[in-house]
Amino acid sequence: MSDTFDFDMANTFVYDFDEPAEGGRELLGGKGIGLAEMTQMGIPVPAGFTITTDACRAYMREGDLPQGLAEEVESHIARLEARTGKQFGSADDPLLVSVRSGAAISMPGMMDTILNLGLNDDAAAGLAARTGNERFAYDSYRRLIQMFGETAEGIDGHLFETALADLKRKRGVQLDTELDAKDLQELVETFKKIYEQHVGSEFPADAREQLLRSVAAVFRSWGNPRAQVYRQTQGIPDDLGTAVNVVQMVFGNKGGKSGTGVAFTRNPSTGETGLYGEFLIDAQGEDVVAGIRTPQPLEAMRDVLPEAFEQLVETMHRLEEHYRDMQDVEFTVEDERLYMLQTRSAKRTAAAALHAAVGMVEEGLISRDDAVGRIDPSQLDQLLHPMIDPSAALEPAAKGLNASPGAASGAIVFDADTAVERAKSGPVILVRFETTPDDIHGMIAAQGILTVHGGMTSHAAVVARGMGKPCVAGCDELSLGGGKMTLAGHALAEGDVITIDGGTGRVFIGEVPLVAPQLNEDFETVLGWADEFRRLGVWANADNPEDAVRAREFGAEGVGLCRTEHMFFGEERLPVVQEMILADSVAGRQAALDRLLPFQQADFEGIFEAMAGLPVVIRLLDPPLHEFLPAESEATDEKMRRRIRSLHEQNPMLGTRGCRLGIQFPEIYEMQVRAIARAANAVEKRTGQAPQVEVMHPLVGFREELRRLRALTERVWAEEAPGLAHRVGTMIEVPRAALRADEIAEEADFFSFGTNDLTQMTLAFSRDDAEGKFLTTYLHEGVLERNPFETIDVDGVGDLMRIAVERGRSSKPELKLGICGEHGGDPKSIAFCHELGLDYVSCSPFRVPLARLAAAQSALKESGRGSYVAAGG
Ligand code: PEP
Ligand code: MG
Repeated sequence: MSDTFDFDMANTFVYDFDEPAEGGRELLGGKGIGLAEMTQMGIPVPAGFTITTDACRAYMREGDLPQGLAEEVESHIARLEARTGKQFGSADDPLLVSVRSGAAISMPGMMDTILNLGLNDDAAAGLAARTGNERFAYDSYRRLIQMFGETAEGIDGHLFETALADLKRKRGVQLDTELDAKDLQELVETFKKIYEQHVGSEFPADAREQLLRSVAAVFRSWGNPRAQVYRQTQGIPDDLGTAVNVVQMVFGNKGGKSGTGVAFTRNPSTGETGLYGEFLIDAQGEDVVAGIRTPQPLEAMRDVLPEAFEQLVETMHRLEEHYRDMQDVEFTVEDERLYMLQTRSAKRTAAAALHAAVGMVEEGLISRDDAVGRIDPSQLDQLLHPMIDPSAALEPAAKGLNASPGAASGAIVFDADTAVERAKSGPVILVRFETTPDDIHGMIAAQGILTVHGGMTSHAAVVARGMGKPCVAGCDELSLGGGKMTLAGHALAEGDVITIDGGTGRVFIGEVPLVAPQLNEDFETVLGWADEFRRLGVWANADNPEDAVRAREFGAEGVGLCRTEHMFFGEERLPVVQEMILADSVAGRQAALDRLLPFQQADFEGIFEAMAGLPVVIRLLDPPLHEFLPAESEATDEKMRRRIRSLHEQNPMLGTRGCRLGIQFPEIYEMQVRAIARAANAVEKRTGQAPQVEVMHPLVGFREELRRLRALTERVWAEEAPGLAHRVGTMIEVPRAALRADEIAEEADFFSFGTNDLTQMTLAFSRDDAEGKFLTTYLHEGVLERNPFETIDVDGVGDLMRIAVERGRSSKPELKLGICGEHGGDPKSIAFCHELGLDYVSCSPFRVPLARLAAAQSALKESGRGSYVAAGG
């Protein structure tokens, strides 16, 4: 080693584990930073260095290792040689290294690792002589050829595995460990032949060539398909790149006093304290993962390697204290000496996350801020719905969009009426091309919904989420016709059983074992803490008393959206609604409306009672009238046919919807306001508690629209419930309304952002058609990073919201502001709503817990507390 040389050469791409590096995890990757921190804590870690993510990004840009990297690596190898007293590439006492990937965000098992670099024929002989362990030397060598061949040259691993299996058969043995040194030497020769046949040149004997080619291969593994898919599902940006760690080899395959294993500081399924893990005697790391041999529980190590076991227990304790989080470690024992190879925050189930967080607060390891800050809000969904047993290894038949979480099994039915019929004798899954409000009864009867068409804000998705029912939407491997369906090539008929998993979008043929939701004390404890921190109110979208009750159970503080159109369906009502639409005269229409009023009133009373004095925002009728009529071909008479034709619109989403309908047919809105006011009166009389009613007008774009509708609302209210307080407001879902929010605010007591429509109209992306078509391509090809129907497009739609907030409050400072689009239940969008200073978010009842947590995290983050970065990787 030359100190002057090191002194002259500034680090550009490479840092020793004990060398300080600015740039932390982004630069060194999770594994690199973990190794560096463990080294600095004095925990036994093999020596080595990290090649930074900068080098990987340069490799991706240039298609080659960046200039100067080889020299820099060489100087760090020289230091490693000095430190270990061994020579890299030497035949006598070779220094062997591993090359391990490690990105900034953990991507377990997605990228490559190569062990035992530095071996060739001479070095293997030298290693055998030095260690007096010939078997170990050739075992290490054959592993190198296989790993290097697979990773650097893309040779099919089966070729090597088959050769190994053939040899074991020939020797009449079961286990790898039963092969002796001569056998393994023979295997090395076989592996070299496989390599040469595939690559067209010999396995490289030069250690430095092995090393640099391995580094390049690990950089390339950032772009392998499984890593890409993983990043897509986890929302990890594609351009981060991975770091590479070059680590002195320590050997778990040296015999009965060596081994390797993985362990958790707490149970990753339940969060219980204790030691959980697996251990294999006389093995290298990949044996544990590859499942060639069955590992023993960690406890078994206590008897075989008592000192190393004690040290491991103590080290894990230290690591948990240091990171103040549950850790997942990899370790190797070489001749009874323990080495830690990795530490990172453990992946865990939602139940484990909550239990461990509560446990750590009790132990004084973390604060309540930390506990609330570190739980992934989206994970809470796992606890609220039955789910597929995570330990079951299952192959789905097809995949669609994960539109509404939870899992359900049932007999397939293709229409809503059959769903209702068949549901009487057992669970059903409603399978439709897409759903419409007509299908609502079938959706209520079904355990789950599967559609061919439609995205995250499609009718099926929104309604299913509202009901807390599993839904897989946009499953394009599904085709329907003639009372049958084909799912990825499998023909299925009505009554055949399928299972859908709305949390992942998977569809299975047949019944799959489910496990029950697990709401418990930990959940209540952590959400109770969250409520102390958050500033945003959390309300729920609920269209009926059952949803309202459920929403309150989950902690909702109001109903932010009651969509009244669902109340127009149902056996008794739809014919009256149709009569109203078909009426020739105002008087005829009024007669039908008079008959509808009691139905509506009863619905509202139920919701007001369920909410017991909390605010309830009722939105007046929004969809175009033709949605309540059958298809033209199903019209029962000529009059109906004519009316259907006259109501037909090319673009109903941009047609006679929302307040446009209310202005054209004021008697409909009058009836609704009357029903609301009467319901409020009745509930006040019955319970002694007046509901806080907010009447909301949809799709307003012009001040004049709201002025007229407010006048209508006030007039009817004064007739029906003059003594009862109420509010009148509007949704902000047309871009013009956001821009003219100052004028509109003068007519409104509140705004509620309808971000489903606001997204549709700002982006000119049809909410019914974009997903599954061009939007899927956009997401797949990275034109857009996120689905704007799931997470607010902060730069575009978000900007309009910001304008609306500023302008609205400039003319009316006390204006109440909320959001009721689907984004109200999305953690990132909730953070944005917090930042905008909204008063509340409203989401489907099942998302209320998630929203409480996400709102608390936003508040904590704002005050610089409770922000959490997972350790290691
Ligand atoms: C919205 O547009 O965001 C909204 C909540 O209304 P709907 O989804 O009923 O159009
Ligand atoms: Mg809308």
